[in-house]
Amino acid sequence: MQQCPFCKIASKEIPADIVYEDESTIAFLDANPSAPGHTLVIPKRHIPTILDADNETLGKIFETVKTVTEMIKKALQPDGFSIGINQGQVSGQRVPHLHIHIIPRFKGDKGAMVQMVVRNPPKESLVVIKEKIRAQKEEEVPEYILEEIKEKTKEIKNVGEKLEKYEKEEEKKEYKGKKIKDKEEDELEEYEKILRQMMIPK
Ligand code: 5GP
Ligand code: ZN
Repeated sequence: MQQCPFCKIASKEIPADIVYEDESTIAFLDANPSAPGHTLVIPKRHIPTILDADNETLGKIFETVKTVTEMIKKALQPDGFSIGINQGQVSGQRVPHLHIHIIPRFKGDKGAMVQMVVRNPPKESLVVIKEKIRAQKEEEVPEYILEEIKEKTKEIKNVGEKLEKYEKEEEKKEYKGKKIKDKEEDELEEYEKILRQMMIPK
C-alpha cells in the first residue's frame, strides 16, 4: 500500500530503528514508546488485521514476536511483557497494517493489565455468549472417535465381503443342484421312452 507508513518501513522508504528482520517479517522500535524497548512486529506484506492473514504468515509473525521478546529480555532485563494487538479503530488501531506491540514491563511502571483497557461487562450470561461463539464453528470430531469409525467401517466391509462370498457359493450350489436335477429328469425321460418303445408290440 503506497500511503501505509509500515509498508514504507518494510521497503526501507522511510527509516526506522530495526531490531530484527527476516524474509517475511520486520521488527522496529515504536517511535512513541510506552516503555524502553517498546517494539512493533509487522509482516512485510500489507495485511490490515489478523483476520486478513493466512495461518502460515501468522505463524511467521508470532515466531518473530518470540525471537524479539527473547532479544529484548536479554538486552534490557524487564520484569515481564505486555504483548498485544489493537484491531480496528475502536480499539485504537491507527496504522492499518497488522502490528504486534511488544511492551517490556518493569516493576512500578504504573501500567496495567491488557484486560484493563476496557470496562464493558456483558449483560448476557457467559453460557449464552459461549453458545453463540461455539455455534460459529462446527464441532470437531475427536481423533479417537474418527479411529473408532474407521475400525467399524472396516468390520462392516469385511462382513459385507464375507456375505457376498457366501451368497455366491450358495448360488453355485443351487445351480449345480438344478443341473443334477435336470440331468436326472432327462435320464428318466429317456428311460421311460425306451420302456414305452419296448412295450409297443411290433
Ligand atoms: P496502533 O495504535 O495502530 O496500534 O499503534 C501504532 C503505533 O505505531 C503507535 O504506537 C505509533 O507510535 C507507532 N508508529 C506510527 N507511525 C510510526 C512510524 O512511522 N515509525 C515508527 N517507528 N512507529 C510508528
Ligand atoms: Zn502496509
